[in-house]
Amino acid sequence: MNERKVRVRFAPSPTGALHIGGVRTALYNYLFAKQHGGDMILRIEDTDSHRFVPGAEDYIIEALTWLGIHFDEGVSFGGNYGPYRQSERRDIYKKYVKILLDSGHAYIAFDTPEELEAKRKEIPNFQYDASTRMSMRNSLTLSPEETQSLIDSEKQYVVRAKIEPNEDIHVHDLIRGEVVINSSILDDKVLYKSADELPTYHLANIVDDHLMEVSHVIRGEEWLPSAPLHVLLYRFFGWEDTMPQFAHLSLLLKPEGNGKLSKRDGDRLGFPVFPLEWHDPKTGDVSSGYRESGYLPEAVVNFLALLGWNPGNDQEVMSMDELIKAFDLSHCSKSGAKFDYEKGKWFNHQYIQMKSNAELARMFQPILEAHGISAAPEYVEKVVGMMKDRVSFVKDLWDVASFFFVAPTEYDEKTRKKRWKPDSAQQLTELMEVLRAHEPFDIESTENTVKAWIESKGYHLGNIMNATRLALVGEGKGPHIFDITEALGKEESLRRIQRAIDILK
Ligand code: GLU
Repeated sequence: MNERKVRVRFAPSPTGALHIGGVRTALYNYLFAKQHGGDMILRIEDTDSHRFVPGAEDYIIEALTWLGIHFDEGVSFGGNYGPYRQSERRDIYKKYVKILLDSGHAYIAFDTPEELEAKRKEIPNFQYDASTRMSMRNSLTLSPEETQSLIDSEKQYVVRAKIEPNEDIHVHDLIRGEVVINSSILDDKVLYKSADELPTYHLANIVDDHLMEVSHVIRGEEWLPSAPLHVLLYRFFGWEDTMPQFAHLSLLLKPEGNGKLSKRDGDRLGFPVFPLEWHDPKTGDVSSGYRESGYLPEAVVNFLALLGWNPGNDQEVMSMDELIKAFDLSHCSKSGAKFDYEKGKWFNHQYIQMKSNAELARMFQPILEAHGISAAPEYVEKVVGMMKDRVSFVKDLWDVASFFFVAPTEYDEKTRKKRWKPDSAQQLTELMEVLRAHEPFDIESTENTVKAWIESKGYHLGNIMNATRLALVGEGKGPHIFDITEALGKEESLRRIQRAIDILK
């Protein structure tokens, strides 16, 4: 059993956009699979037709592809264990429902929603289980003939698991250790519904994990309450020897730490909770996504990987390959991880710094174009190289660097009052002469020449630099002055200084 090939699955239900917590689950499955040279399967659990949302499946695939989380098999990837969409596996499940019925581990129940409702009113905390099932309308209380005739009359029914009470069920969890739950608290869960001829999540999930030879089930904590039933189902089928190992990941918590992270927290605090922008087909609502908000996929992966896991040292910036090497389920935290959105931005900043200037320039070009600017790639690269350490998002380059592309026509009032002195116009006129005569116009020699001139004249270095900056940038910000003049070039620098003199003198 130890030699078993690692096979994990990501098994979302296509009920809407994939939440960022689901992305983390997919990521942890991927890291674990790749570390062990195993397979990663995409299975779509769409047996609940009422909750099906069109577009959700494509969204999930697009989002994970964008993040570099790749599947070896599954919906849209192929493989030998298909079909991988549960709605296409009806006949398979029917066979296993019959096995449970024949072995007495399940029974057929005919109770109508109205009958169940009446019971709930009659018995406080009603639960369909060993204590109540014999007072209900099911194949345990009806004769075989009655049962068969109800089925034949096309009366709708469900199949329920027959859970024996008073037994401690042990779930071995790779993160939580041994979790023990007494079977008496479980109800006789519905496993199959004749109405749509489909199994419920529990049965389909177990049968598929078995048939697809899944070795490890890594999923969110919200599925832990289902695990005892799943353990029982493995036993009912006689599949204990190949039962997957479980690992239930702790929740992603609100930034304040109280309760589960929800879409509303994102709306409230202004950050995305979805990997890609999502257009809800029912409501028409649009929710923001990490991709459209300017996150690099590497940054999102790194950020999510460290929400609930750490490598055991203080390394934070880790590539996918490094994460694959270091990942360890036993280092996943049992308690929830606070969703620290600011940290997400920090990661994006780090990854922006690691990108080449050429690549960042390519990403910045569409933003420039949107502002009506067409600039040579080499120039954009140079600007990006100077300014990238000031931003966390490519789109923010516009805020810090637009002056490289658009000459100021107005001057920031506060800066002007403080930095433009009575003799600034005269001094900058002289400076223009110095600059005009200077060749070549590189950073170092221009700086040396200008400083020598200032010294020879006994001028105040700071005053001249500040006034020049105001002329070149329009305000008091920006990188080193001579980096700016070099990038703008002699003609443009002189033009800007002249204009400032004309307007401000
Ligand atoms: N379909 C379940 C979900 O939407 C899968 C849970 C599991 O991984 O067992 O998350």
